[in-house]
Amino acid sequence: MNRDYDVVIIGAGPAGLTAALALGGAGRRVLLLDGGPPRNARATAAHNVFTRDGCAPTDLKALGLRDLEPYDITVRHTPAREARAVDGGFAIRHEDAGGGGGWARARRLLFASGVRDRLPHIPGLRERWGLTIHHCSYCDGWPNRDAKLGVLGSHQEGHHLALNVRAWAEEVSLLTDGPDELTHEQREDLQRIDVPLYTQPVARISGKDGVTVHFRNGKRLDLEGLFLNPTQVQNSGLPAALGCELDAKSRVTVNENGMTSVRGIWAAGDMT
Ligand SMILES: Cc1cc2nc3c(=O)[nH]c(=O)nc-3n(C[C@H](O)[C@H](O)[C@H](O)COP(=O)(O)OP(=O)(O)OC[C@H]3O[C@@H](n4cnc5c(N)ncnc54)[C@H](O)[C@@H]3O)c2cc1C
Repeated sequence: MNRDYDVVIIGAGPAGLTAALALGGAGRRVLLLDGGPPRNARATAAHNVFTRDGCAPTDLKALGLRDLEPYDITVRHTPAREARAVDGGFAIRHEDAGGGGGWARARRLLFASGVRDRLPHIPGLRERWGLTIHHCSYCDGWPNRDAKLGVLGSHQEGHHLALNVRAWAEEVSLLTDGPDELTHEQREDLQRIDVPLYTQPVARISGKDGVTVHFRNGKRLDLEGLFLNPTQVQNSGLPAALGCELDAKSRVTVNENGMTSVRGIWAAGDMT
């Protein structure tokens, strides 16, 4: 073992950085493992962030890391590869591709490793994710207010997101990419607020500043932005490997204090 820490934090996104700040300020010895870019790395600006509205996600992270400098916090830019329960604490192996890293031991583990968005396999969608294709109207509704927008989704989530996005823009269409699973009431909701329904399967997406949706029947729809709510999976398999309980949506279950089902392991952020 290299060195003992009070806490090893796995993940240096907003949750991990905030936790590090609080624990550093509480005089704890912390190892923060930064395994890579945050979930919104593709976006050019983060909104709804107190004092930093519109800041680029990479700048936000750099500022967060800078805030940690006064404290007893070691930051390693390597992912955690393995974790084991040992002697009432935990051993964590962190290793980069070049072979740097090693084992660290800690009394407590805090996972803040985030989630990964599972995007639909529509050609052209992934490249535009975070740029002209968004997932959250509270994050990207304002920059797209009054734009011509689409929502991609076939059932309850599509209906919900369409109602939501419609609060920012007059012209919103719901694209179900094939037969929809909407209820009669949901269709009525959409009609009431003038959201047309496109049920044709989508062949591909193109467009530089906007989003052009090409349907398989040869028709196309020109939009200025598209919203969708993809399913998410855990970034890291380590919480599950350590026995932490996950719920039906693959989120790590925590109690009201943020502790997982495994004593000594905590989790915070999107992953919960
Ligand atoms: C396109 C897009 C745009 C968004 N825009 C906004 C916005 O404008 N405003 C807003 O408030 N929210 C926005 N969000 C949501 C926001 O990105 C997340 O809510 C936020 O990033 C969650 O923070 P987190 O710390 O829980 O996880 P993350 O930010 O995902 O951070 C988790 C970190 O853990 C790291 N990690 C994973 N596995 C390991 C491992 N084994 N070892 C070490 N590190 C590991 C990851 O690389 C990552 O850096 C957006 C999301 C997306 C997808």
